[in-house]
Amino acid sequence: MTEPETHDTSDPVAGFGVPERHADRSAMGQGVSPETPNPAAATGASGAGDGHATDVIVVGAGVAGLVAALECAKVGLRVTVLERRESIGGCVGRIELDGLSLDSGAESFATRGGTVAELVESLGLSDAVESPNAAGAWLAWPGSGRRLDAAPLPRTGMLGIPANPLGDDVRRIIGWRGAWRAYADRLMPILTIGRAHSLGKLVRSRMGDAVLERLVTPISAGVYSTNPDDLDLDVVAPGLNEAMTRTGSLSGGVGQLVEERRAGGAVQGLRGGMHTLVDALAAQLERFGVDVRTGTEATDLERLGGGEAGSTGWRVRATALAAPAEASATGEVLVAGEPVDAEPRELVLDAPYVILAAPADTSRRLLDQAALGWADAADWPSAASVELVTLVLDAPALGAAPRGTGVLVAAGTPGVTAKALTHSTAKWSWLAELAGGRHVVRLSYGRAGEANPLDGRTDDEVAALALADAGALLGTPLDASMLRASGRSAWRDALSQATIGQRDRVRALEDVLAAEPGIEATGSWVAGTGLASVIPHALEAARRIRHLAVNPGDAPDAAGETPRDRSEGDA
Ligand SMILES: Cc1cc2nc3c(=O)[nH]c(=O)nc-3n(C[C@H](O)[C@H](O)[C@H](O)COP(=O)(O)OP(=O)(O)OC[C@H]3O[C@@H](n4cnc5c(N)ncnc54)[C@H](O)[C@@H]3O)c2cc1C
Repeated sequence: MTEPETHDTSDPVAGFGVPERHADRSAMGQGVSPETPNPAAATGASGAGDGHATDVIVVGAGVAGLVAALECAKVGLRVTVLERRESIGGCVGRIELDGLSLDSGAESFATRGGTVAELVESLGLSDAVESPNAAGAWLAWPGSGRRLDAAPLPRTGMLGIPANPLGDDVRRIIGWRGAWRAYADRLMPILTIGRAHSLGKLVRSRMGDAVLERLVTPISAGVYSTNPDDLDLDVVAPGLNEAMTRTGSLSGGVGQLVEERRAGGAVQGLRGGMHTLVDALAAQLERFGVDVRTGTEATDLERLGGGEAGSTGWRVRATALAAPAEASATGEVLVAGEPVDAEPRELVLDAPYVILAAPADTSRRLLDQAALGWADAADWPSAASVELVTLVLDAPALGAAPRGTGVLVAAGTPGVTAKALTHSTAKWSWLAELAGGRHVVRLSYGRAGEANPLDGRTDDEVAALALADAGALLGTPLDASMLRASGRSAWRDALSQATIGQRDRVRALEDVLAAEPGIEATGSWVAGTGLASVIPHALEAARRIRHLAVNPGDAPDAAGETPRDRSEGDA
């Protein structure tokens, strides 16, 4: 186990403590160590909204908010995290089924950039890192005569775009005709495309409809819940425009990027599930005295000091249930199984720094209320709605992993409503071991621009539908007697948008925030989907807050200029 840091040596401001106006003197004097938890927390003084002071308010306890909170707390800043739900972790959730603790959202992380691995190591989880079964996933599509056809996904490609359009694995899915049309990409001059923005339009024009519909659309639906026509190429395939220019074709560009990424582009998971990352973060937050308030929804954001840029602090209003609560079948609120008075409590929290780490809807609303002059606040695409259904099965025939690690489903595939299936016990050997002969599969529902097909269905109806889909997709008869348990996890506001124009929208937001003292926005809605994007972004946001806490003179003035801007202007 790696011991948690007492001082963060990676940050230039670490070790300087926090500025006098925010400093907890005893915390600074002793440093904040696991053995000496933040004294403010020990006395209850790190609380907020009830007469106690806090330095940083973090809205949202998904991984972005948790990582940002920990990074701030490591240098002695007093941090309060507000989370609307009763549990933390956001999309990195947990579901308990048939005695198994399973991931209800994210189940892996991309190794690119190395930041997730660094976090995992700092939390002492390196020994739990595991690679998935290399067998890879399959694709299902509408075959002739209303049949479902299925085959392994081509081995070399990106977002379904094949690097070798005439390869056997590609031809098996799109046929000779589709393959020759895709090969035409190699013969077309690259100048005709200029710089591409839409993934779908690029693929259609260079490789034709078969590649788009059979290969690219199912992957876009599975990963982004978005039609490829609406996906911004620079967001979902950074570097592809440049690689195309270098190689003279789309397939050539894909081939080059696949080679470049082969070294560092793997996906890994954690033995025990990705949700153990959240448990480890929670333990560290507790050790560093962070005040995490679940069941507490941030409702308003206001700039203190009359609303002038250059003013000093933020007010967050929040609504909290009286105590951690659960709802009974009749809707009454229970604490430890007992009905309680569920009158919500209004909280007012003031702090010099605020980090918005909630999804787009909440963060945009709060930014709009703070009247920061962000013109695009209303002009943000709405998030996709996805629901996962997890099944635990007694089905020995699945031991042969008939469809590798899972199946992506092309739209219109007969007899199947799901858009993707993961055969979790075939993908992760630790889970197969734990499940002891049982099988875990999870299916995902909800395609871009369509109502979620599970809306309005009862749990029993959903379980029956998922069982039928799993049988069809895995090519194995499954019946109700094999179903040990099933569970639903709905993610209505979870996925980030990678739609065209997203980079410009994020840049415009960053420009507005750069001119404001002590406010940051992070999370997948601005960083991009996936832990490999979310974690480094959250760390950077927290480090800017830490820097400002130590160097308050670096705050922007009323004109939105920082001392560095001003000195550059003078030069
Ligand atoms: C089904 C699914 C599977 C995924 N699989 C993977 C995967 O395998 N690998 C991978 O890298 N990524 C995966 N992702 C993406 C990844 O999980 C997310 O990009 C990442 O977890 C987002 O973290 P976040 O902190 O930005 O947002 P979230 O996890 O959405 O957290 C935001 C938090 O803010 C809270 N909140 C909202 N409003 C308020 C409010 N008013 N006040 C207080 N709190 C509020 C929410 O309750 C939530 O807890 C998956 C996502 C989903 C949905």
